[in-house]
Amino acid sequence: MKRTFQPETLMMSHGYRPEWSEGAVKCPIFQTSTFVFRTAEEGKAFFEVAYGLRERGDKEKTGLIYSRLNNPDMEILEDRLTLWDGAEACAVFESGMSAISTALFEFLQPGDLLLYSNPLYGGTSHFVHHVLTKFGIEVRGFLPGATREELEQIILESGKKDRLGMIYLETPANPTNDLVDISMCRSVADQFSTPDRRALVAVDNTYMGPLWQHPLKHGADLVLYSATKYIGGHSDVIAGACLGSKELITRVKTLRTFLGNMIAPHTGWLLMRSLETLKLRMEKQAENAQIIARRLAEHPKVAKVHYLGLLSPEDGEAYRTYRRQCTSPGAMVSFELKGGEHEAFVFLNHLKIAKLAVSLGSTESLAQHPATMTHAGVDPAEKAAFGITDTLVRLSVGVENAEDLWWDVEQALAAVPAAKSSRMEMPALEVV
Ligand SMILES: *Cc1c(COP(=O)(O)O)cnc(C)c1O
Repeated sequence: MKRTFQPETLMMSHGYRPEWSEGAVKCPIFQTSTFVFRTAEEGKAFFEVAYGLRERGDKEKTGLIYSRLNNPDMEILEDRLTLWDGAEACAVFESGMSAISTALFEFLQPGDLLLYSNPLYGGTSHFVHHVLTKFGIEVRGFLPGATREELEQIILESGKKDRLGMIYLETPANPTNDLVDISMCRSVADQFSTPDRRALVAVDNTYMGPLWQHPLKHGADLVLYSATKYIGGHSDVIAGACLGSKELITRVKTLRTFLGNMIAPHTGWLLMRSLETLKLRMEKQAENAQIIARRLAEHPKVAKVHYLGLLSPEDGEAYRTYRRQCTSPGAMVSFELKGGEHEAFVFLNHLKIAKLAVSLGSTESLAQHPATMTHAGVDPAEKAAFGITDTLVRLSVGVENAEDLWWDVEQALAAVPAAKSSRMEMPALEVV
């Protein structure tokens, strides 16, 4: 009887056979730059396929040539990553930023319009505003909660309605957990596609993936990851991935070959090791995050908690998008203390278990202050519009004992001075 196994079952074996490596139960690290061809004819055949001079035959394996093009640790990792997202193909990179920048370079041309959701990850924001614009690409952002009509209006006002190259999303947004409806963006991209050019939808799924949100199922063409985060999960590697159809990923891999920003064999091997426990880690992290978020919401020194698990039907569209798009509330919690930057800093400085560091998705809990750390480069008016206030703290919840973690959060909250009651609220600012 044929059975389709779940990804967590396949993470220990998929794409690797022990007989390829002296019976080694695990895929070894293929720490080699180049591979020996058995005959000159074989070398010729490998290059024909690698350079697209002919299609690969049905039974023909892609031959190993040179580790910038292919390497078993890179290819087996790619095969395993496709399983979680239900993707045809995957390309892995030496960092999340190299996956993102390579995909944007491959699919955007001078004169194109890139529409993106705000706030963006800092590195991506810099690349979009300071690098893509040098290549003649128009960029326009939209605010959290923007409606379909607002997206259409931004595209029309740009004067580039025939040149929409891509809609690029981060959902849930970092650090506020605001959601963007991927299928709505798909439909906007379709509306502005032309017969000879499909406008793509790309989703940076680092915050939720690959377990809790599968953007390809909601109409995205490309899924991007900083594999440094949940996929790596131990704060000991920098890596990235891009997933999608065979056709699109072949283009991404070709550009990767010439930029030379592929993953190294040792990093690929470490990520395969990480993938074996991905589901266990992520589920435990989400379980802990729900406990912390619920208790934070009831704490007298906390003004507001931003966590998907606290959304309710009264939140309207956000709640509906969450229920449709996400399979878990995740493990990223942000919250606003009563007071200002001082109160947030006192809290952070008193944590004993959670480390004061940026990054996320790892086994250890991490805490940081977005307004002065990850989002320090964001213009002050935009920060206010995105909800990145001086009192906002972001927590990436790890796999520690939940009661120990709550003890830590509670004792750090106890050190925070009680806020004066008459503080003025920041007025909401409009950004264009
Ligand atoms: C960390 C991160 C990136 C960048 O990834 P690197 O691996 O650091 O290059 C991109 N997007 C998001 C959402 C991230 O959290």
